[in-house]
Amino acid sequence: MPSRIEGKAAIVTGGARGLGEQVVRALAGEGCSVMIADLLEGPGQALADELGSRVVFARVDVTSEADWEDAVATAETTFGGLDILVNNAAIYRRQLLEEETVAELEKIMAVNLHGPFLGIKAVVPAMRERGGGSIVNVSSLAGATSYPAHGAYSMSKWALRGLTRTAAIELAPSGIRVNAVLPGNIRTEMSPTTASGEIPTGLKRQADPREVADAVVYLASDQSTFVNGTDLVADGGSLLG
Ligand code: NAD
Repeated sequence: MPSRIEGKAAIVTGGARGLGEQVVRALAGEGCSVMIADLLEGPGQALADELGSRVVFARVDVTSEADWEDAVATAETTFGGLDILVNNAAIYRRQLLEEETVAELEKIMAVNLHGPFLGIKAVVPAMRERGGGSIVNVSSLAGATSYPAHGAYSMSKWALRGLTRTAAIELAPSGIRVNAVLPGNIRTEMSPTTASGEIPTGLKRQADPREVADAVVYLASDQSTFVNGTDLVADGGSLLG
């Protein structure tokens, strides 16, 4: 079957490591041009160098409107247009609500919610020029249920689903689809479990980041042209109880 992603151009935030790195690898492997948009210059540039001329690194802080403007302008110049945005960058920390501060809450919201919001605003004109596009927001099971000491993170990931649905309905007339992926526990540096990675329900294991990257790529690609405003849970069934 021909690739449903070859020849397209994407920006992947947080693409230097973890889930984002695997999304970059999967997209590039299918012939998509990719900008790795991350704060981590060393790993981001090394990944771009490894994957060849179709992949570029740009130092982007997703909380900065100016960085977004530069990133989209560079992507348009380098790739000739933009079809895909994966809002994957996020930060995580555990804290009980009673101990939480507004300053720490604002830091998490700035990256996990305002970042995707600014990203969507920045890419829409470029996607309209292409006649459409696909935006994938990486939420979390913490955006569908609750865990102790996950208040700020959970608030950001629930809100990201609200942003996803609003963007989906507002941008559908422009041919731009917006969906969310809700991963369960993934084996990355952010992963909140112990080294043993034990998960009590469902498949009872952490995901390899490539397994979740496949879900992201499905939503990014033309394999999902009638899927819009949805949540794709990729958690090995761990929510089943
Ligand atoms: P990670 O910490 O390995 O990677 C996150 C990446 O985001 C890093 O490369 C980091 O440099 C980048 N980043 C952070 N702040 C940034 C900023 N301001 N601007 C640009 N880049 C920034 O984490 P991961 O596990 O790969 O997480 C990827 C996504 O998956 C996140 O949205 C996370 O919330 C979500 N998620 C992860 C898990 C898990 O178990 N690891 C579970 C559910 C959801």
